[in-house]
Amino acid sequence: MKLRLILGDQLNQQHSWFQEVDRDVRYFMAEMRQETDYVKHHIQKVVAFFISMRNFKKWLEDNGHQVIYYTLDDLDNTQNLTENLKKVAEEQKATSFEYQLPDEYRLDQQLKEISSLLQLPVQSFDTEHFLTSRTDLTGFFEGKKQMTMEYFYRDMRKKYGVMMVNEKEPEGGKWNFDKSNRNKWTGKDPIPPEKEYDRNVAEIVSLLEKHEVQTIGNINEKDFDWPTSREECLEVLQYFCKYLLIHFGDYQDAMHEDEKYLFHSRLSFAMNSKMLSPKEVIDTIIDYWRSHQEDIRISQVEGFVRQILGWREYMRGVYWKEMPSYKKKNKLQNKNKLPEFYWTGKTKMNCLHHAIHQSLDDAYAHHIQRLMITGNYALLTQCDPDEVDEWYLGIYIDAIEWVELTNTRGMSQFADGGIVATKPYVSTGSYINKMSNYCKGCHYKVSKKLGDDACPFNVLYWNFLDDKRAYFKGNQRMSMMMSLLNKMSPDQLTAYKERANHIIENPHEY
Ligand code: FAD
Ligand code: SF4
Repeated sequence: MKLRLILGDQLNQQHSWFQEVDRDVRYFMAEMRQETDYVKHHIQKVVAFFISMRNFKKWLEDNGHQVIYYTLDDLDNTQNLTENLKKVAEEQKATSFEYQLPDEYRLDQQLKEISSLLQLPVQSFDTEHFLTSRTDLTGFFEGKKQMTMEYFYRDMRKKYGVMMVNEKEPEGGKWNFDKSNRNKWTGKDPIPPEKEYDRNVAEIVSLLEKHEVQTIGNINEKDFDWPTSREECLEVLQYFCKYLLIHFGDYQDAMHEDEKYLFHSRLSFAMNSKMLSPKEVIDTIIDYWRSHQEDIRISQVEGFVRQILGWREYMRGVYWKEMPSYKKKNKLQNKNKLPEFYWTGKTKMNCLHHAIHQSLDDAYAHHIQRLMITGNYALLTQCDPDEVDEWYLGIYIDAIEWVELTNTRGMSQFADGGIVATKPYVSTGSYINKMSNYCKGCHYKVSKKLGDDACPFNVLYWNFLDDKRAYFKGNQRMSMMMSLLNKMSPDQLTAYKERANHIIENPHEY
């Protein structure tokens, strides 16, 4: 009997494993404390994974496959992957073991160890999910001084013939339409309500409670609307094409108190759990656009394709190129604690209050909220990237290390010293005011730098540049801001730094 492992984020119905029923194969899946406890996850994330796994198991069985499935409370469940596999292999008298390559380094290591322990012929398979292999990116940038997403993305467009006129020229005459993607949302373009789902969330919630699984965030059965089967994921994709694609690019960077999702797809969980493949998402969107070209501009579509064909694959490539050392990188030597309000949302800073509350309530914040609100503040207050990583890895529905780590440590915290981003993503309050309506309802005044009611971001920004001068020496992209800093009078800088240090040392007061 062949024993095949399916991990919780390998729910890919299209995988070649499942195209034929083999009575000699037993699939093994397990809900385990090993996975619920390696970081404190958002409760919706654990619930979404467990429901999706159960749905996948049902689909396998409905299609004639044989499955051994351990629920969290199964008495046979040792709660550890190594022990479970040893046990099942012995009980089932397995003659070989097969697994799909995991996306996380920790599981990759564990599966290598398991493979040597089992004393069986072992074979690993591709997940058939990504458009690049683990090592493609390393090969692509071989011998180059600096990696840039843009060149990788263009190469991917050519390689897969995505939105190309011919082998060399992109459709629409340019590769990048980012300049037309920077609008503030004012309510002028309405967002239609989403379809509501009815799911038995309560069963999993009480299972987690019974087993005292520690989680963060909130769950409300009525509002839980993450897709947990392939059919539901396809519905979310259709909803995106029909209602959101039309303004995706326009409002990609916008933030608004009343609209948490704006025109974002919320497809990350569907893809990261492998229920949808990135290629089918891209193809579906492009097909939809081709039949609605009179309504949907190319900039909306290109902006979306770039995220998946470009950023998503790129981040995964960087992860496998740089791990395991990447996880320890702290180039700027930041050591401060992440403020307590990241777990409660209790802060007078309206932007942080909104972005954090939303994350706690929905296990979701869109890219700019993650980068320019929570990430920006954590970097400006010089928080330890280990703490920042732990928060991001736990709180978001889509947080799996291969994509979380490079986004958090790299893009957001600049802890890799410039592998992912060429400069740190930091800003004063004026960027936040430009892209959102948060500042209107805030206790602080975004235009002020000093005084009790001045926006904290303003002084934190200059303090950060001053504290980290040495690291930005020679960074061309920082030269304009550094020269403005150098022109500041010493008295002004001292006053800014005093307030910034007070904010850093007393986060509970802000
Ligand atoms: P949309 O805005 O609709 O974008 C479409 C898709 O593009 C996403 O579903 C996602 O698959 C992909 N995508 C967009 N940006 C990125 C990116 N920078 N890297 C990789 N894929 C991208 N994404 C995760 O999937 N998991 C994470 O744990 C994660 N952590 C992040 C941490 C920080 C600090 C930052 C700044 C970003 C992080 N991202 C992460 C990237 C991005 O924020 C999310 O993919 C996106 O917000 C998911 O929402 P959506 O599906 O509505 O995305
Ligand atoms: Fe955030 Fe400052 Fe605007 Fe308040 S004023 S919402 S703290 S940027």
